[in-house]
Amino acid sequence: VKTAASAAPPSSGYTDRWLQRNLLNFSELALHPTLLANLRDQGFERPTPIQAESIPPALAGKNLVGLAQTGTGKTAAFVLPILQRLSAGRPGGVRALIVTPTRELAEQVNATVVSLGRGMGLRSAVIYGGVGMIPQERALRAGVDIVVACPGRLLDHMGRGTVRLDRVEILVLDEADRMFDMGFLPAIRRILQALPAKRQTMLFSATLAPELRELVASAAPEAVTVQIGQVRPAHTIAHALYPVPNHHKTGLLLELLRHANTGSVLIFTRTKHRANRLLQLIVREGHSAAA
Ligand code: AMP
Repeated sequence: VKTAASAAPPSSGYTDRWLQRNLLNFSELALHPTLLANLRDQGFERPTPIQAESIPPALAGKNLVGLAQTGTGKTAAFVLPILQRLSAGRPGGVRALIVTPTRELAEQVNATVVSLGRGMGLRSAVIYGGVGMIPQERALRAGVDIVVACPGRLLDHMGRGTVRLDRVEILVLDEADRMFDMGFLPAIRRILQALPAKRQTMLFSATLAPELRELVASAAPEAVTVQIGQVRPAHTIAHALYPVPNHHKTGLLLELLRHANTGSVLIFTRTKHRANRLLQLIVREGHSAAA
């Protein structure tokens, strides 16, 4: 059996040809037949690299740290093992908890739970703030197997006793770096205290700040770390942000171009019109440029 780790991807990233040669089929991942059918319906033919590397240890019940950004297929990387595990075992109570930083992400993750979990007989609820508590309470009372939640509103429900987490078998912390940036770490710690110590924990994050390493050590001991190709800009690239009033933007840009010690520069504008206007000014300065 080949795995994604069997060959380094080309420096240009995971090209289609590389994927074809190196990745398994979903059918080789020992997934539930209903999941395989749902994957086919979704048009997912092969696991993405993060899926190929995460799903086997996740199915084996291991704690996992997935270093991957949105767009890599990370959602299915944790949703598939959750669905597989919940299809077996004793139903009753919330058995999987997925915590996300934003409502949009919570909805997106739940959409994946619904589409990949079709026909599995599992129920899910989405919990986030800014909307009424009552419909969420009603959904929770009716009984759900999977909760997808943002930290603040989940704590509200925990405080009211409208959600019980003492049967949770799998915890996912999705986009943990964003949750940390948004100040959710104390909330996460409180949620962790309400969960059974014996559980599987998967944490997904684009990067691992020291605070997150501490969280991993306590919440997901002995985690298998899965990292896919570096998708951040090269460390040789410097970033700078210049907050300037509108009428100084062009002047600042031209000044920066005067001092740029590089042969080629790429500039993005919001509109075509602005690109054309800027082109005229740049050419007038003596640069050769195209829009
Ligand atoms: P994510 O990184 O989880 O936000 O996923 C990014 C996009 O990739 C989503 O639109 C998924 O529906 C899609 N996707 C996830 N896994 C696969 C796969 N194995 N094959 C094709 N598309 C996929």
